[in-house]
Amino acid sequence: MRFDVHIIGGGLAGSEAAWQLAEAGARVRLSEMRGGGDTTPAHETDRLAEMVCSNSFRSDDAEHNAVGLLHQEMRDLRSLVMRAADQHRVPAGSALAVDREAFAAEVTRAVDQHPNITIVRERVDALPDHPTIIATGPLTGPGLAQAIAAETGEGALAFFDAIAPIVHRDSVDMDVAWMAARWDKGGKDYINCPLDKPQYDDFVAALIDGEKMPFHDWEKDTPYFEGCMPIEVMAERGQETLRYGPMKGVGLDNPRTGRWPYAVVQLRQDNKLGTLWNMVGFQTKLKHGEQVRIFRTIPSLENAEFARLGGIHRNSFINSPRLLDRELRLKSKPCIRFAGQITGCEGYVESAAVGLVAARFAAAELSGRQLPPPPPETALGALLGHITGGADAETFQPMNVNFGLMPPPPGRARKADRKKAYTESARASFADWLAMLTEREPA
Ligand SMILES: Cc1cc2nc3c(=O)[nH]c(=O)nc-3n(C[C@H](O)[C@H](O)[C@H](O)COP(=O)(O)OP(=O)(O)OC[C@H]3O[C@@H](n4cnc5c(N)ncnc54)[C@H](O)[C@@H]3O)c2cc1C
Repeated sequence: MRFDVHIIGGGLAGSEAAWQLAEAGARVRLSEMRGGGDTTPAHETDRLAEMVCSNSFRSDDAEHNAVGLLHQEMRDLRSLVMRAADQHRVPAGSALAVDREAFAAEVTRAVDQHPNITIVRERVDALPDHPTIIATGPLTGPGLAQAIAAETGEGALAFFDAIAPIVHRDSVDMDVAWMAARWDKGGKDYINCPLDKPQYDDFVAALIDGEKMPFHDWEKDTPYFEGCMPIEVMAERGQETLRYGPMKGVGLDNPRTGRWPYAVVQLRQDNKLGTLWNMVGFQTKLKHGEQVRIFRTIPSLENAEFARLGGIHRNSFINSPRLLDRELRLKSKPCIRFAGQITGCEGYVESAAVGLVAARFAAAELSGRQLPPPPPETALGALLGHITGGADAETFQPMNVNFGLMPPPPGRARKADRKKAYTESARASFADWLAMLTEREPA
């Protein structure tokens, strides 16, 4: 079959992208290496859209949760992944969990039977010169990874993430923390959270005792790069190691005491909006519950809300804010788009969502139109905006969808109503955007 768009990778993103393009009338070649003699260390079947770990799409609450809102927006855009998930959901309270076998079987069936899609069980090792969407995920085959690295230049494709937790700015107690840069150099760019000696000693002990996530067998050779060592590994090296590393207090006058703190945790702005701040040097393998418990013992972070918790995994992802344009095209080779986790989004739902929007951009381009991006107030627009420019390229690490990626809604909502204010503003913007799309491309 001749095709209009080549999609490489039949995971969550590639399957959704193939479906969206095919439904828009484009002919798709979908290359998936599983079932053709290759596999990844995490996949166990040759089905499309295999969920490699948990069977959950997380919260399905579209009123109070950003990922629930993303579910709804995807449903409104006739997502195959969401349709199959809804069809095969299993009881999980307010979460959307699915029967993974039936879910993947349904996605495979739908894609396989679509007259506009040809699935080819093959591994691709080079960047094509025709219109392509690369959706090869966190475990991209090594040949293709090499080709991407060669095209994008040194350091632009990571093979491991080293994620430090990210805190919502408005949950930091600024009566305790203060803004400053070390030695007053440059602007007052960091939030500084001070610890005295007993607090520091307890904190180091908690890091050492805290429960850690094990590496998978195939991740055991994960390198700890200089400057990306897990915080608990540094703590194990000696009582003072952190105080001479990311927690050093020198050069930081605390305006409330007039002295340097014994130790400090610094937060640095992580997105253009200034709503999200990362804990500098705090990449960690501590279990998520332990991170929340231990990091909330830091003065000024007692009520911290975390937009993302830390982690270290094998994960191929490109520096999207630097490499991609607003339509997910590779700036240096615009016939190539990227979608899914390889763009630096994180999670099944986010990956499928980025596959969906990449395909919508590609479909519009094929028909000579331009698709206005989803508005930044929406979950889809916020996620897309983050990976294509809202995030700081220097510190770019994978990100889940969360309210901190969206501009705060106008007016002052009480804390209890804030999430609803975000979703109401998102729904209104999304409805306008969808109406405009439908006007341009009647179904
Ligand atoms: C061990 C592990 C556990 C995870 N657990 C979770 C979890 O619990 N919840 C969650 O939300 N997310 C989890 N993730 C992240 C998860 O992988 C992504 O959320 C999601 O699968 C990404 O979708 P994707 O389509 O981008 O990639 P994938 O779903 O991985 O799909 C990529 C596809 O590309 C194919 N491929 C790769 N290279 C080539 C090539 N060169 N040629 C042809 N085909 C190729 C692969 O075989 C695969 O089918 C986990 C990831 C890993 C690695």
